[in-house]
Amino acid sequence: TTLFGNVEQAPKDPILGITEKFLADTNPIKMNLGVGAYRDDNGQPVVLDAVREAERRVAGSHFMEYLPIGGLRDFISESVKLAYGDNAAVLAEGQVAAVQSLSGTGSCRLFADFQKRFMPGTKVFIPEPTWSNHFNIWRDAGVEFAKYRYYKPETRGLDIDGFLEDIKRAPAGSVFLLHACAHNPTGVDPTPEQWRQLSAAMLERGHFPLFDMAYQGFASGDCDRDAASIRIFLGDGHRLAVSQSYAKNMGLYGQRVGCLSVVCDNKRDASAVESQLKAIARPMYSNPPLHGALLVTKILQDADLKQLWFKEVKGMADRIISMRSLLRKRLEEAGSPLQWGHITDQIGMFAYSGMSPEMVDALAAKHHIYMTRNGRISMAGVNTKNVGRLAEAMHAVTS
Ligand code: PLP
Repeated sequence: TTLFGNVEQAPKDPILGITEKFLADTNPIKMNLGVGAYRDDNGQPVVLDAVREAERRVAGSHFMEYLPIGGLRDFISESVKLAYGDNAAVLAEGQVAAVQSLSGTGSCRLFADFQKRFMPGTKVFIPEPTWSNHFNIWRDAGVEFAKYRYYKPETRGLDIDGFLEDIKRAPAGSVFLLHACAHNPTGVDPTPEQWRQLSAAMLERGHFPLFDMAYQGFASGDCDRDAASIRIFLGDGHRLAVSQSYAKNMGLYGQRVGCLSVVCDNKRDASAVESQLKAIARPMYSNPPLHGALLVTKILQDADLKQLWFKEVKGMADRIISMRSLLRKRLEEAGSPLQWGHITDQIGMFAYSGMSPEMVDALAAKHHIYMTRNGRISMAGVNTKNVGRLAEAMHAVTS
């Protein structure tokens, strides 16, 4: 026997596993619609002009030192303003504990560890379906999780009744993980009116909402509008937490830059919570990376760069929205008798197509088109050149 002979292969990550299959396919017409990373109309990754300019501005500065455990102060204050609104009362009152994090995944993990320590015995309720990594994160943090109803396959829309019922049924004081906007994978978001209903129901049960906001600006193209859910809950007086990521909306995927904030009852509590978040971070990774945080701070602190960024986020959101319309149109032109209205009704990076795992397998085997087996299409990978072939292939496997 060998030292690690008893170690079994870990299961492949469902999303990153697709990329491996895609890379192994030698056919040049292959299409990767698995991973959620933005591409331009030529299928190329994009570095935003605002980011390029920010890079020019930080080049040559003294930026190789360690950041503090909690990260870059200015980065954090700009981030929470972006999430809660420039004039949010909770910011003025010092009620918000916040630390820089390792992108959205790192924020969620920090929160999960915080929940384990300081909200003992609480469960986290996760939407069904959700981003697959949510399960891993809370499992590894040792927090029990349960699912709440979110999506109704029959209507391809929100299961608002099931959602409200599950809020009522959950033990008082549970943590509810909510996608602030652009729900992954379904692309189905509650309307503002439905958010108000959900907020009231959670308040009544004393639940604690955690907003995972990985796509601010990516849904509607407007960062304030995409944070409407959070602002509604804040207005209702919730104590809540927000996980922010700049991976998608600034295209800083590999820089791992994000922010975790927790709205507390008062300044004292915020200070204590922040100190505990740092105490969790210190033995895990000591302090967060610097470069991405500097870029984000340069952009958010400069009125012109911020405007440029807003314009560029909107450009990305608009391109995806136009690809939704085009995909639907091409499916209809291909002669598909099925209803594809959900493709344009849904919002954000993904289209939850309703295709079965077998259909997805056929897309890969016969058409060299790769996506997750739940039928989720990354619309960010669709462009004017490949949309026709995608529509024909989808029609072929669904008819
Ligand atoms: N949360 C959701 C819902 C996501 O879809 C993603 C990325 O796909 C993340 C969090 C985390 O992304 P990152 O860690 O790259 O910021």
